[in-house]
Amino acid sequence: MGVDNFVNWLRDAASTLHDNAAYLTELDSAIGDADHGANMDRGFQAIVAVLDESTFASADELMKKAGMTLVSKVGGASGPLYGTFFLRFGTVLAGTSSITPEVIGEAFKAGVGGILQRGKAELGDKTMYDAWAPALDAYDAAVAGGSDLAGALNAAAEAAAKGRDATVPLVARKGRASYLGERSAGHQDPGATSTTLLLESAARTLA
Ligand code: ADP
Ligand code: MG
Repeated sequence: MGVDNFVNWLRDAASTLHDNAAYLTELDSAIGDADHGANMDRGFQAIVAVLDESTFASADELMKKAGMTLVSKVGGASGPLYGTFFLRFGTVLAGTSSITPEVIGEAFKAGVGGILQRGKAELGDKTMYDAWAPALDAYDAAVAGGSDLAGALNAAAEAAAKGRDATVPLVARKGRASYLGERSAGHQDPGATSTTLLLESAARTLA
């Protein structure tokens, strides 16, 4: 497990988000301002441009650079939130000599901690956290039960997808969708959808 795995994750995520940009924007057009797909695509294409230009000595430098790129290139709420996620993720990797499934779990937890600190979302607010929270739990349970990294990431991605689906009936209490009040119910949250795509991408590439 090394820097190449993380390069593969970021490139795979960029291509997946590009392929799903119209879908994410369509979800955001129902309860937001129809830019989530464009935001994610712009941010991750900027990361790909960085990957094409530079090589990284360590996974922590790579992930921090990815985070800074998202913060600087994405204007919407999702840019600073995902940017902080990758910055915190990289900070955990910086403190370790060997990247184990436990370390990856700590990195995910720290990243999501950054999302919560910035966005102040709680479970059930109809945000990306509704996909992250069950994903973190499933990841930890899988590792505790003896799963390898691939098993834990697959469990996390499946839990995220369930969390994403469970956002449909919710009334949004954070972000732009909250301006709609009760009318936000009946629509899937765009950010919970992009989080699930990121975790499915991690399951394909990190292990
Ligand atoms: P904007 O809402 O500024 O247009 P995006 O459309 O790119 O930004 O992202 C919207 C997504 O961001 C939402 O679907 C939601 O998942 C997530 N989001 C918005 N506000 C918050 C928050 N305070 N905490 C966590 N996630 C949030
Ligand atoms: Mg939007």
